[in-house]
Amino acid sequence: MKWDLLLASIIFFCVVPALCLSRPAADLIIRNARIWTVDTARPEAQAVAILGDRIVAVGANQELDAWLGPETRVIDAAGKRLLPGFNDSHVHFVTGGARLDEVQLHEVTSPREFARRVAERAAKGAKGEWMVGGNWDETRWNPPQIPTKDLIDPVTPDSPVAVSRYDGHMILANSLALKAAGITAQTPDPAGGVIVRDSRGNPTGALKDAAADLVLKIIPAPNHSQRRQAIERALQMAASVGVTSVQHMNPEYADIAVYSELLDQGKLTTRVYAVPLISQFEDQVKIGIRHAFGNPWLRIGALKAYADGSLGSATAYFFEPLIDQPQNRGLLADLMHPVSSMQDRMAKADAAGLQLCAHAIGDAAISTILDIYSGIEKTHGKADRRWRIEHAQHMAAGDFDRFAGLRVIASVQPYHAIDDGRWAEARIGRDRAARTYAFRTFLNHGVRLAFGTDWYVAPLNPMLTLYAAVTRATLDGKNPKGWFPEQKLTIREAIEAYTMGSAYAEFQDRVKGSITPGKLADMVLLSEDVLTVAPDRIRDIKALKTWIGGQLIYDAESASSTPER
Ligand SMILES: [Zn+2]
Repeated sequence: MKWDLLLASIIFFCVVPALCLSRPAADLIIRNARIWTVDTARPEAQAVAILGDRIVAVGANQELDAWLGPETRVIDAAGKRLLPGFNDSHVHFVTGGARLDEVQLHEVTSPREFARRVAERAAKGAKGEWMVGGNWDETRWNPPQIPTKDLIDPVTPDSPVAVSRYDGHMILANSLALKAAGITAQTPDPAGGVIVRDSRGNPTGALKDAAADLVLKIIPAPNHSQRRQAIERALQMAASVGVTSVQHMNPEYADIAVYSELLDQGKLTTRVYAVPLISQFEDQVKIGIRHAFGNPWLRIGALKAYADGSLGSATAYFFEPLIDQPQNRGLLADLMHPVSSMQDRMAKADAAGLQLCAHAIGDAAISTILDIYSGIEKTHGKADRRWRIEHAQHMAAGDFDRFAGLRVIASVQPYHAIDDGRWAEARIGRDRAARTYAFRTFLNHGVRLAFGTDWYVAPLNPMLTLYAAVTRATLDGKNPKGWFPEQKLTIREAIEAYTMGSAYAEFQDRVKGSITPGKLADMVLLSEDVLTVAPDRIRDIKALKTWIGGQLIYDAESASSTPER
């Protein structure tokens, strides 16, 4: 039943007091739960009643008995913690899904095992289908040796292979792939790359940096069915970790077409906000699409812009040079040259009512985007735009106030903090590191946070993100008390950012993000109480059950094991 119909029927029955008792019964009641609603009006509850895809009541067990009917399904949550479903504000959903099905070579410790896994994956793929991914690391082998095509040619007669080293700086291609790319003994090394050769000068299949591009550039884009398969894998993954909404950054239009097809077939099990690149902004302007256009399942109306690169690749744009590269302060992204061209694009998109989400990592990149936003506000006037800065990693001290003044949302990925925290200080120094992933400072300035992962770059599992935000314990174990511990969040603040915060960031805070009557019944039941467990155990918590719009889309009891990413 639609929510408005339901409301109408409640109103109808209740204007005649005698009929009030015959209000509709709930389809589902979850009882005996420890519910953290993320609704300040009623933060804690025991039970929730669902009718259709909406929550109709939240309260104590007995209070909800009035919603029981002969058809009502009742679930006893046995005292487990129930939260609103997680909303990941920044994912690369198709790449994430595709990677789940790629050959996994990272843990391999011998050439034999390497060949065995490649053979196994080749047997699963269609004839002629490219095999990519892998993340092999020959330093784990004894003795370490860079693999050659001879190792995998016998098991891949029909599949071109281009599997990557874990650092992304080398690939191993098989003979089929070399042939497709036209690489022979006569091919010279390209500028910035090396074709590794044997003693007779023949390519071994190992290709470094720019030489790898000779092969990578000829790999065809995924076709419709490959795309659909990747999305279906990603949907399963999301359900298994309690993610019920994702905000897909820079999707291809073909990805949106798959979402639309799945929605039509009733198979979309995660709510999607698709945010295409700003280079294509005129497409949405032409048809008059405005921010958050669509239905609760699938929406468009936002644009993703890049202001700079990343800290890891030393391309994030800073005011001052990097400590470990004194000649380098990073650089602005292509479309930022000149900045006025980006300003123009963004102003046109804003005039059309589209939402802006700008990737900005270095302090100068963030400042430049704030300049643009502030210029647009001056020209177009104040409005509820919910501008976003994606990552917002390294803040200039003076920019927190500007960030807050423009009501810009910081769409951040706490897992990056415990990952980069291993080496970031050596690159940018202590002063800048103190304003890095500065979640507490953002909150103190009244900046709204939205949490996400950047999956595939980091794991999709929200428990790892919560763990990161609450502990700031770097992955190398060197900061058990937290890297810049003054920036830690409480678990309640972290959950808020991951539910209401992310919903706000996509103009959906009135329909989801908390367990509140009238909102969509998107919820997750957890194996342990994330609010009271020791912080270092948060990362071990699992989703037991996930519901979206009142439908159970994941049940750990009936699911087979799922991979980490
Ligand atoms: Zn990203």
